[in-house]
Amino acid sequence: MKRNLIHIFTTVLFIVAFAGTQSKAGVQQHLVQKGDTLWGLSRKYKVPLKSIAQANRIKLTKRLQIGEKLLIPGTSTQDAWYFVKAGDTLWNIARHYNVKVRDLQTANGISSPRHLQIGTRIRIPNGGELFTFANPLRVPLVVTSKYGYRPHPVTGRYQMHEGIDFRAATGTRVYASRAGKVIFAGRKGGYGKVVGIEHEDDFTTWYGHLSRIRVKNGQWVSQGKVIGLSGNTGISTGPHLHFEIRYKGRSEKPTQYLTIQ
Ligand SMILES: [Zn+2]
Repeated sequence: MKRNLIHIFTTVLFIVAFAGTQSKAGVQQHLVQKGDTLWGLSRKYKVPLKSIAQANRIKLTKRLQIGEKLLIPGTSTQDAWYFVKAGDTLWNIARHYNVKVRDLQTANGISSPRHLQIGTRIRIPNGGELFTFANPLRVPLVVTSKYGYRPHPVTGRYQMHEGIDFRAATGTRVYASRAGKVIFAGRKGGYGKVVGIEHEDDFTTWYGHLSRIRVKNGQWVSQGKVIGLSGNTGISTGPHLHFEIRYKGRSEKPTQYLTIQ
């Protein structure tokens, strides 16, 4: 009997310890306390100093203020992508992501940083989960309606489809494509039940026609957090997930950022 109890106890301990290590894979928030230093946090969370500085867009020499909130990125070394917009320079992009111009040049084979073409895909080395977009359904994505102009399936009017539709049976789990802060969780016109997440660097993602919403406005979510269940709410002809990526409020083609097999 006693042995059984010990066994249960160690199993529980193991599960707790395992859950503890797992959570390190996601972005966390750290409330700065007395005595905290960037070095100390780097050791505590086992995340490179540079990644913490990069995630918070601060200098390595910054003095931390008590009560300040810091993002602690996961240990992922995934690369992120950025598409050159009108007016962009490599210097702006480098400053934005807190990386060196030279590192961007090396990663992208750019010999002359002065000539950037609009639409060029720029790899941001070690963008990690703060800057990358992941599959919001975690199942192979099947596109049922593309991004762009189309006759609206319900109204028949020729209009812009600001997102991409993925096949999803009602009740399919929907995951945050990227870490960020929930800025909308509720009903919104034709979108039905929808969640909007604001990310670093002026991007937002939107998940429409949900049957259930599992997050609250203002909540911080890691990449891969379940934010709701897919459905058929709002103006929709059948169960699916409507997914949008917006940059400074304007929709972008999601397939630029998401790989669809
Ligand atoms: Zn749609």
